[in-house]
Amino acid sequence: TRMDYRNMHYLRKSAYINGQWVNAESKAVFPVLNPADDKVIAEIPDMDAADAKRAIAAATESFRTWKYTTAKDRAAILRRWYDLCVKNQDHLAEIITAEAGKPLAEAKGEIVYGSSFLEFFADTARHINGEVIPSPWPNKQIMLTRQPLGVVSVITPWNFPFAMITRKVGALLAAGCTCVIKPAEDTPLTALAAVQLAEEAGFPKGIINVVTASRKNAPIVGKVLCEDANVGCISFTGSTHVGKILYGMAAKGVKRVSLELGGNCPFIVFPSADINHAVEQAMMAKFRNNGQACVGANRFLIHADIFDAFVEAFKNKIMEKCIIGPGYKAGVTCGPLINLEQATKVKSLVEDACGKGANVVIGGKPAPKHGTKFYESTILTDVKPEMKIYGEEIFGPVAVCHKFNTEEEVLEIANSTRTGLGSYVFTRDLGQAFRMSQKLEFGMVAINDGVLSAAEPAFGGIKESGIGREGSKHGVEEYTDIKYTLFSAL
Ligand code: ADP
Repeated sequence: TRMDYRNMHYLRKSAYINGQWVNAESKAVFPVLNPADDKVIAEIPDMDAADAKRAIAAATESFRTWKYTTAKDRAAILRRWYDLCVKNQDHLAEIITAEAGKPLAEAKGEIVYGSSFLEFFADTARHINGEVIPSPWPNKQIMLTRQPLGVVSVITPWNFPFAMITRKVGALLAAGCTCVIKPAEDTPLTALAAVQLAEEAGFPKGIINVVTASRKNAPIVGKVLCEDANVGCISFTGSTHVGKILYGMAAKGVKRVSLELGGNCPFIVFPSADINHAVEQAMMAKFRNNGQACVGANRFLIHADIFDAFVEAFKNKIMEKCIIGPGYKAGVTCGPLINLEQATKVKSLVEDACGKGANVVIGGKPAPKHGTKFYESTILTDVKPEMKIYGEEIFGPVAVCHKFNTEEEVLEIANSTRTGLGSYVFTRDLGQAFRMSQKLEFGMVAINDGVLSAAEPAFGGIKESGIGREGSKHGVEEYTDIKYTLFSAL
């Protein structure tokens, strides 16, 4: 078969601390599975609190010199890391497809996208400028400089196992910080491969460390990563539930946090929109990574005048484009869900909705002939507030379509959630586009587009979707403190 794990380049089966490939002190291991066929890809160290402390100690020691390196030198190493990731994109993509399940073309897309953060932050490193401010006093001068926060604990999810690391680690390294990464238990192999390339790029030992752990050990490792006195910042992407736990632990030490949490993104289509374009973008916003993205469209809010036309075109596009199967097979566009927990959740959300009167336009059930974690690409209509799927983040290939009549009504529905990550609006009415940009309570608003992530803009949410921004110069500033120095008696 295509997936011969023994021949996989950059498949590393150890954790990485202080420049060494290491086992857990306890020697414990856990398996990493291919979600397409449930086969074990590798067994890797199941680390615990002692290992996490060891990694933090290495990152702390290396910070003592790393923080005094020049931005130019840090930029050069980041740039080399970028080059190596791009050069090895096929190898990295194979690992992503094996452990995360996404189709190879999408996995490659993630490498290109994820690497772009390293390239961008290599440039940004050299523009972390300070300020000299006119002072209110004669013979005194005020200077503001940006200082790196220190050791950053990086805890990442499985849905973009490469990009969620590069956009944090690229930024914090540019700022002059060091880090300990705890990758998701479902997808640690991508992180280890990326760090192998970082080693080749020339990062000194201890600057980047990776502690691998099973779901069982994640809480004890997470506690150390949040509470150790030498950690300056916790940078997390994942569920709102876990984000709140980490935020609570970080509070004890008044640590800086950067949190990218769940979304419940609306995808709004007004009557003036180009329906074919909206449907094409809907395919990206909903079915990229099989719906497993925090900026994935979760609620389709479609104006009543075009509701039937939109749903019909959406259904036809799904029949044409959604091809279910293992990610390494040519032509496949929809892989498995990541694990049984997610597959079960999607199934039960749809069952609950159908039991309470929702209408299945297409799909609506698992696809067991492909494996245990596959689910049909689905559209539901007639969804009501009493159904669980109405308010929850689905994180799967299920598009829920609602009808609305007025701009006020759709704003009310879209904003009536405690989350506020991305939002999508389709309209050709310029005034309406500006009103929506202003009134949608979300960190990000895409007008006439279904994809908004890149290294240049500032990605992030409001309300319970998170704190802080990733990408752009703001993404680097997250990892710095402003230092004020007063020069007196001049
Ligand atoms: P997802 O829904 O994407 O699995 P999670 O928030 O559950 O999101 O997981 C994201 C990351 O958080 C993973 O690396 C996971 O191991 C880690 N994690 C889960 N629980 C904890 C915890 N209690 N402490 C620290 N990390 C945790």
